[in-house]
Amino acid sequence: MMRVGIGYDSHRFASDRPLILGGVTIPHSAGLTGHSDADAVAHAVADAMLGAAALGDIGRLFPDTDPTYQGADSMMLLAAVRDRLRVNGWRLQQVDVTVVAEAPKLAPHVGVMQARLADVLDVTADSVSIKAKTNERMGFIGRGEGIAVMAVATIVAAAPPG
Ligand code: MG
Repeated sequence: MMRVGIGYDSHRFASDRPLILGGVTIPHSAGLTGHSDADAVAHAVADAMLGAAALGDIGRLFPDTDPTYQGADSMMLLAAVRDRLRVNGWRLQQVDVTVVAEAPKLAPHVGVMQARLADVLDVTADSVSIKAKTNERMGFIGRGEGIAVMAVATIVAAAPPG
């Protein structure tokens, strides 16, 4: 059996933060605000995976009221989501991600983001797709106030470990 999940995340830019997407620090004049490291790619992928398995969402799993997750490395949260699916008898098949940002240009970073996500998710790099678009200067994204990320994940039933 195969199931599909969708994930969405958005974060606001702030000049005093590093920009971290898909576990990769990307040179830019601003980063994203958030309780964790605000890695919107990791968050959208995690929610797509949890959605496919009907296991809730990262807001429920890692509440932003919990000081444990202050400044958290979102790739660690993603690894926890991967493990949660595993123990519930699911295996990630592939993820497809669209990042909508007016700047910076993400194309030069897509390959390393793919590799990093594939590594954490324990899938091959060709099972991770990352696409980047601008918002044609429209709305909050177009004004450079923040970015949005959409992700789709497919999972298949698998024998739980051990
Ligand atoms: Mg988020």
